[in-house]
Amino acid sequence: MISLSQSQLTLLDTCDRKFQYVHFDALNGPSSYEQKVTTQWGTQFHLLMQQRSLNLPTEVLTSANAEMAVSMSALAKAAPEIFKALPNDSNPADQNTESQSEQRRTLAFNGYLLTVVYDWILCNFDADSPNGQILDWKTHQRPPRKERLANDWQTRLYLYVLCETTSLRPDQLSMTYWFVRSEASSYRFGYSVRQHEQTRQDLQRLTARLSRMREQNDFPKVAIAAGKCDQCPFNVRCDRISPMSSSPPLPIDPYHLLQAASQITADSVEEIHL
Ligand code: SF4
Repeated sequence: MISLSQSQLTLLDTCDRKFQYVHFDALNGPSSYEQKVTTQWGTQFHLLMQQRSLNLPTEVLTSANAEMAVSMSALAKAAPEIFKALPNDSNPADQNTESQSEQRRTLAFNGYLLTVVYDWILCNFDADSPNGQILDWKTHQRPPRKERLANDWQTRLYLYVLCETTSLRPDQLSMTYWFVRSEASSYRFGYSVRQHEQTRQDLQRLTARLSRMREQNDFPKVAIAAGKCDQCPFNVRCDRISPMSSSPPLPIDPYHLLQAASQITADSVEEIHL
């Protein structure tokens, strides 16, 4: 059964052909130096938080990276409840609570396996005030717009799967993004029955369309008018921009030159008649 994560749902919502390139053809555009540095920082921070959740020493990582140590203490100050719920020698595990990092959950849905990995999950199944909180560490230098994250497939899928895999109701769930490099600022999103139903319908539509495209082996390109091709790393492969164009819409810098060069194939280069 094919797994679908939030990034694959985002691709499907963006362009079917792009989904085919990335998911089935295992193609990808080059990453910029800044993206690589951010990814590396994010990986180390997630590892640090995982160590912390297991009550393992974190000094080696924090002493090697002062900025990360500052980010972690800012988070502990802004949201002490995250660490308070962790079981330790003086605070034994409570059967009604669940506090765990890097938790993976899967849900069978319309022939696919919806897959999520929660950075941190805090669930309280106490009869008086049951609730579930999903916490996610974002390591961007600056937080993105809140409205963009509200409609992001990560927010929608993570809440949907938690609701479907626990006894908790939508209105008892929330998801909070912590921007750990921006003085531990955060966005919190609640959830509702209406949002849950809307996500179910959208998942049904996307997965049914994916099954049709797989049967017909036809993943259409998005319409040019949608304006999604200019910044797409596959725009040469899709003939949406010529690799030799004298006036490309992208700025000429090393990253974009590398992006265009990585797409050049024998078919995409115009023949020069001698
Ligand atoms: S260039 Fe346009 S059509 Fe091609 S994969 Fe990218 S978004 Fe889709």
